[in-house]
Amino acid sequence: MSNPSILILPGDGIGPEVMAEVRKVISWFGEKRDLAFDVSEDLVGGCAYDKHGTPLHDDTMAKAQEVDAVLLGAVGGPKYDNLDFSVKPERGLLRLRKEMDLFSNLRPAQCFDALADFSSLKKDVVAGLDIMIIRELTSGIYFGEPRGIINEGNERVGINTQRYTESEIARVARSAFELARKRNNKVCSMEKANVMESGILWRDVVQEIHDAEYPDVELSHMYADNGAMQLVRAPKQFDVIVTDNLFGDILSDAAAMLTGSLGMLPSASLGAPMANGRPKALYEPVHGSAPDIAGQGKANPIACILSFAMALRYSFDQGDEATRLEDAIEAVLAQGARTADLLGNEGETPISTSEMGDAILKA
Ligand code: ATP
Ligand code: MG
Repeated sequence: MSNPSILILPGDGIGPEVMAEVRKVISWFGEKRDLAFDVSEDLVGGCAYDKHGTPLHDDTMAKAQEVDAVLLGAVGGPKYDNLDFSVKPERGLLRLRKEMDLFSNLRPAQCFDALADFSSLKKDVVAGLDIMIIRELTSGIYFGEPRGIINEGNERVGINTQRYTESEIARVARSAFELARKRNNKVCSMEKANVMESGILWRDVVQEIHDAEYPDVELSHMYADNGAMQLVRAPKQFDVIVTDNLFGDILSDAAAMLTGSLGMLPSASLGAPMANGRPKALYEPVHGSAPDIAGQGKANPIACILSFAMALRYSFDQGDEATRLEDAIEAVLAQGARTADLLGNEGETPISTSEMGDAILKA
C-alpha cells in the first residue's frame, strides 16, 4: 500500500517559516515511528499570484482534491493589499475551502499548563481549558449574494447577505454532535436568533437534528454576543461550540487569546468522506501571515505543528501519535522554551522558530 499523501502549501509571510518546522516533524515520524508520508509542495496566496497571476492555480486545486490531507501555512501580506478582490491571496484559500467543500472548521482552544500564567485572564479561568469551536465554513455572509458596493443616490452602499440553507446547517450540526460524542457529550449552539432570520432557522435546525438523531447529547443555545461574554468570563462552561461562519471567525479569535497566543492555535477544516473513507481535509494554523515579524525567525511554529497533530488524529487515525506530539510540546513549554510571542516577564530571552522546532523534536 502506498503512503498517505500530504500536500504542503506554505503560502506567504511566516507561512514558509513555520512550515519548515512541520516538515522536520513529518520527517521525524517517517524515520522514528515508521510513519511515512508522500509529501508534495505547491504555491498558494500571494506567491502563487506572483508566479501565475492567480492565488491558486488550477493544477494546485486539482492536487488538493487528490491528496489525503492539505497542510497550509498562511496567505497574504501588505504587498498584495491593493490587488483586485478576485485575485487577492485570501481568494486562494477561500477557493480551496469552497471547492473541497470543507464545511466544518474545528478550532480547539486548549490551555497548556505551562502557559496558564501567561494568558491574559486569571489563571483559574483558563487552567485546564479544553474547548472546541466548530465554525461553519462554506456559507453564510462570506458567500451570500447579493454582495457588492453600489451607488444609491449620492452615496455608496456596501452590501453582504447572510444566507443559510437547512442542509448547510444540518451537516455542520451533525459534525458538532458527532464530535461531542467523542468528547464530553455537550454542545452549545450560537447565533443571533433575536435579530436574524438565518439565526432563527439555525436554532430550529440544530434543535431538530438533536432531537431526531442525538438526543443523548446535552444541547444549549446562546446568542452569540452573550457567548462572546461567557467565553471570556467563564470559558470552561463550554465543551463543543457550534456556530456560523462570521460568528465563528470572531469567537474563535477571542478563544485564541484565552490560551495565550495566536501562535498556539491549530485548526482543521473537514468535508465529506472521500472514497478511501478519509474526510476531505485541510489543516492550518489560525494565525495569518504576520507580516510584522515575517522573515525574522521569530514566528511561533507550534500552531502549525499542532495542526499537523490534528491531521494525524482526524485524517490518519493516529491519535496516539498526535498525543505524542502534543505531549512533546507541553514538555518543551514546561521546560521554559518560549518564542517571542509567549514571553511574559522582562528578562526572558526568546528562542527562534527553528530552535522551537528542534526542541520539540528532541522532546
Ligand atoms: P489575517 O488577516 O490573515 O488573519 P491578521 O493580520 O489578522 O492576519 P496575523 O497575521 O495572525 O493576523 O497576526 C496578528 C498578530 O499576531 C501579529 O502581530 C503577528 O505578529 C502575531 N502572530 C500571528 N501569528 C504568530 C506566530 N505564529 N508567532 C508569533 N506571532 C504571531
Ligand atoms: Mg485575522
